[in-house]
Amino acid sequence: MARLRILKDNEPNLRKKCRPVSEITQRTLTLLDDMLETMRKANGVGLAGPQVGVLRRIAVVEVEEGNVIELINPVIIEQTGSQTGYEGCLSVPGRTGIVTRPDYVRVKALDRFGEEKFYEGTGLLARCFCHEIAHLDGILYTDVADRMLTEEELKAYMESDAE
Ligand code: ZN
Repeated sequence: MARLRILKDNEPNLRKKCRPVSEITQRTLTLLDDMLETMRKANGVGLAGPQVGVLRRIAVVEVEEGNVIELINPVIIEQTGSQTGYEGCLSVPGRTGIVTRPDYVRVKALDRFGEEKFYEGTGLLARCFCHEIAHLDGILYTDVADRMLTEEELKAYMESDAE
């Protein structure tokens, strides 16, 4: 496995609409493995293709340690409720925002074997699905945030988070 470079939010590739994965090849599987390793090393809970310079509809999510969800051509097919909370992104280091997302989403995607799978998420998992799938359309959370935290708020947030 290899650790990939994570693009930062000033890089144009993060702003592009990604194309579907047309065929799952060995390269796709290696990419999924590398994305998982890259995400874990960066202490993230989700990573999308464009964040590592791959403009394809592919993402990995691991909100709960060991529960890795690989998403190929994911689509949100149902969403209900709303939650407002903190959100960050590996491509936007050192910043945090307040973002309102659905509280429940149901996602359809292919797994690495090309099988159609359905995933349900509430709370953080729902937030993560929305965040990663938005990346595939070139949308960052900073675009949809209710607001970004100020320096002071960020400091307080980081301190409370460390406890
Ligand atoms: Zn992100």
